[in-house]
Amino acid sequence: MVVYNFSAGPAVLPTEVIKRIKEDLPSFDNSGMSVMEISHRSNLFDEVIDQAQQDLKELLQVPDDYHVLFFQGGCTLQFTAAPLNLATEHKKIALLDSGHWADRARDEASRLGIEVDVIDSTKNLHYTQLPALKDLPQDTYDYLHITTNNTIEGTAYNRLPKTGNTPLVADLSSNFLAQDYDFSKFDLMMVGAQKNVGIAGLTIVVVKDDLIGKAKNLPSMIDYELFAKKNSMFNTPPVFAIYVAGLVLKWVKEQGGVKEMDRRNRKKSDLLYDFLDDSKLFTAPVMKQDRSLTNVPFVTGKPELDQELIQQASEVGLLNIKGHRSVGGMRASLYNAMPYIGVEKLVDFLNKFEKDYWG
Ligand code: PLP
Repeated sequence: MVVYNFSAGPAVLPTEVIKRIKEDLPSFDNSGMSVMEISHRSNLFDEVIDQAQQDLKELLQVPDDYHVLFFQGGCTLQFTAAPLNLATEHKKIALLDSGHWADRARDEASRLGIEVDVIDSTKNLHYTQLPALKDLPQDTYDYLHITTNNTIEGTAYNRLPKTGNTPLVADLSSNFLAQDYDFSKFDLMMVGAQKNVGIAGLTIVVVKDDLIGKAKNLPSMIDYELFAKKNSMFNTPPVFAIYVAGLVLKWVKEQGGVKEMDRRNRKKSDLLYDFLDDSKLFTAPVMKQDRSLTNVPFVTGKPELDQELIQQASEVGLLNIKGHRSVGGMRASLYNAMPYIGVEKLVDFLNKFEKDYWG
C-alpha cells in the first residue's frame, strides 16, 4: 500500500533523498565507509558541511554577512540560546504570542530572568488568528520574537512586522523553505530540521554577523560567536543529520527553490482548504487570511467521529492526521516533500467519509 505521511514532524522526506541515502549508506563517496562512520574532521565532511551552508544561503538569497550555524538540542534550545546571545543591552525582548511555540519561547526567555513583553496575543481566540503587528517602540527591546508558522494551530504570517531598528528573530521551524519570505528581513532564523530540512537532531540558525559576539562567556554549546568561528564543529556535530539536510537542500534547489516550493504548497493547501470550506461536516477553524500553507487543522466538532476518521484514514494509508493533543481534531501537515497526489487522496477520502456520514 502506498502511504502518505501527514505528520507534523518528524515528517516526510523526499523519496529522491531516501533513495540517495540508501545508495550512499554502504560507502560514502567511494570511501568504503558509511556516512555515519566518517569523521567530522575529514575532508569528506568538510565538503558536506560547506556545501550545505552555501546551498542554504543561495536558497535564502541572504547577503554574505549571514552565518549558517548547526546546533543540537532542537529549536527548543534556541529559545534559551537566542536570548542569552542577543538580549545583552536592554535585557528585554518583545514577543508576539501566536500559539504554543511562541509561548514556549516566552517561557524559556523568562526563566533566564529576561523581561518578555508580549506585544499582542490571540490566546483568547484559541489562536485561530494571528496577533497584530503593532509598531514597536524603538531602542527598547533587544529583539522581537515571532513564530512564522504555528505548527499546532495552523496559522502563518504572510506579512512580516516592521520592526525599525529592533532585530527580528523568527522561529521558522514549520514553514522554512516552504513559504517564501524576504529572508533578509530576519536578523536571526531558528529552525528545527525535522520538518522541511531533514531529520531530528539538527537545528539550523541563520544569523546576521552584527548580532553575534555581543555576549561573553556563554556556555560553549550555545555560543553563536564560537560556533561561527569553529564552523559549527566546536564538538562532534550531528554528521548524519547535516548530510541529510545537505541532500534536502540540493533537492529544493533542483525543484526550483523556495518560490517554487511556496507555489506548490499554496496549490496543495488550497485544494484542502477549498474542500473544507465547502464541507458541511468539516470546519477549518483558522481565519482565512492567516492560514498556514504547511499545517492544516480541521474538526468535525464530534470527538468520537474524529477518532473514527483518523482510524479509517490510517487503514487506507493516510497516516498521522491526528491533531495535536492540545487542540484535538485532525491536522494534515503538507510540508515540501508531500506530493500533490497525497493531498488529492486525502480530499477524496474526506469527501467519501462525509458522503457516508450523511448516508
Ligand atoms: N518551534 C516550532 C514552530 C515547532 O513546531 C517545534 C516543534 O514541533 C519547535 C519549535 C520545537 O522544536 P524541537 O522539538 O526541535 O525543539
